Amino acid sequence: MKSNKKQIISYLWQSLKPYKWHLIIILQAPMIASLFVPITQYAIKITIDYLAANKGFSFSALTLPISLFICGQLAAETSWAISNWVSLKSMVFVKASITDRVYSYVLDHSYNFFQNNYSGSISAKINNIQSTANKLFENIKFNIINRLTILISTVFLFWMVSKILVFAILIFYLVFFSIVYRLSKKLHTLSENYTNRNQKISGLISDSVSNIFNIFLFANKTRERSFIREELGGITASEQRMLRYEFYLQLFIGIVYLSISMGVLFLLIYLKQQGGITVGDFSLVLAALFHTLEVSYSLVTNVTSLVKDWGELEESFSVINKKYEVRDKPNARDLMINNSAIEFKSVNFKYDNGPEIFSDFSLKINSGEKLGLVGHSGAGKSTLVNLLLRYFTINSGCMLIDTQDISDITEDSLRKNVSVVPQDVLLFHRSIRENILYGKLDATEIEILDACKKAHIYDFIQTLPDGFDTIVGERGLKISGGQKQRIAIARAFLKNAPILILDEATSNLDSQSEKEIQESLEVLMQQKTVIVIAHRLSTLKNMDRIIFLEKGKITEEGNHSQLIQNGTGAYRKLWDLQVKDASVQLM
Ligand code: ADP
Repeated sequence: MKSNKKQIISYLWQSLKPYKWHLIIILQAPMIASLFVPITQYAIKITIDYLAANKGFSFSALTLPISLFICGQLAAETSWAISNWVSLKSMVFVKASITDRVYSYVLDHSYNFFQNNYSGSISAKINNIQSTANKLFENIKFNIINRLTILISTVFLFWMVSKILVFAILIFYLVFFSIVYRLSKKLHTLSENYTNRNQKISGLISDSVSNIFNIFLFANKTRERSFIREELGGITASEQRMLRYEFYLQLFIGIVYLSISMGVLFLLIYLKQQGGITVGDFSLVLAALFHTLEVSYSLVTNVTSLVKDWGELEESFSVINKKYEVRDKPNARDLMINNSAIEFKSVNFKYDNGPEIFSDFSLKINSGEKLGLVGHSGAGKSTLVNLLLRYFTINSGCMLIDTQDISDITEDSLRKNVSVVPQDVLLFHRSIRENILYGKLDATEIEILDACKKAHIYDFIQTLPDGFDTIVGERGLKISGGQKQRIAIARAFLKNAPILILDEATSNLDSQSEKEIQESLEVLMQQKTVIVIAHRLSTLKNMDRIIFLEKGKITEEGNHSQLIQNGTGAYRKLWDLQVKDASVQLM
């Protein structure tokens, strides 16, 4: 779906609007400065006419052309100086404002949006919008306005010499622009095709290089080489198509230039023989004509790249500017936590075009209850948590926290009251301190240290050369999975929200570390309503209640010992398997 043109213009205008007067001052320069060209040509005409008519040379007779030349140059320089000064005072802010507004808009997109779009592609598009809008603007400012001014002023120059010439030049503009613009668009399609293929190959090479250890491991260098070579073959063909087309286009333009130049030259000779024009007129038209031919072709190139850039802008906007899927209602209130009881009431839910995950699902979690959530992979455990966090909208039914329907409250207030310690912890490429502080931005140093000690990560941080200021590396690659989980637990200690969700929170820890952390988690869980998703059932022994989920339905319910007593239940079977596994490992 392409974004609406008006929508894009109004979006960009929002950032430009505070600087609309600056904009006018900036754009006057290319117009005024390009008038220097016809003015100079006119000054030369006057000089030539004077020299042709007079044998002697009088400096005072040339005052007009000299003044025209000096004033034109002065006006051009001054207008550019003013334009550049105003530009540095305004356009930098416009650019920042565009990125700021686009990024803010993207941040409010739903979980689903980020799941369906590559993060690299989203950030590339955010940057692209600003840089393409800037490219468009620079093209208008530095190329299109001044070339248009030159072409229009040339018509006036020709008007002063002969009306037939104006007629000839207008016909030329019409034919030239309509044909060459169409041909150039085709050239752009070909060059776009070539660029896309080129970009694809850099993506493939980067994918190959980042998978280099797979290539080593499976001894597949030959396969990778031929894979890339095949793509390179496609690129060569596409580049040749583009260059061939460009060659024919240039040839066509050359023939048009030659024809118009010859035509005008003969017309000028005819007019001179009839005594209708002066020598100065003759040289003025010739000089202006050759300049016009060059400017016309450049203008076509500028307009086609304007069209191309606009297309790119539309493309980026169409991804970013999608309508929000999950939004706060206009009259949404903040969640008021009382005793943090949770209730799912006849919930029906399915992902887009997917099968039903929950059908008439009901579950009550009492205030301060510790609920274990068990089930085979794909049973719907994570989905249940995602629904509670309002990452997706349920199809029908409702979810309540302290009797408040979560669809009626603000998303921010909901998520501020829920802490999640996930299985795969995501860290920013920032320092350990900043990552931990994400749990509570205004935490004191003492609170940070206390949370780290409770999460058993403090000693590890002390061993790092830069301590809390150590940068964790892109996506937290420099630290182990277990250490990341401890950082997430430290964050949860700092956040201290009344509802806590532990989603396989200790799965990346070895048994010894898990035992240590388990004690901390017991502390963290105190006076909170807790949902614990775990595959290792031993971690659920102290839960008040455990539910076994199968295909979105609760098939068993009770505390650990009650479920164990049910000798034929799925929970008991899973328990027996895990106990057997553990005893085999001990042997
Ligand atoms: P569990 O956490 O119990 O392993 P999930 O809640 O992750 O199960 O998944 C339940 C079902 O929903 C699975 O069939 C899974 O493929 C599907 N599912 C999970 N997330 C999405 C999603 N974002 N879009 C579509 N289907 C999904």
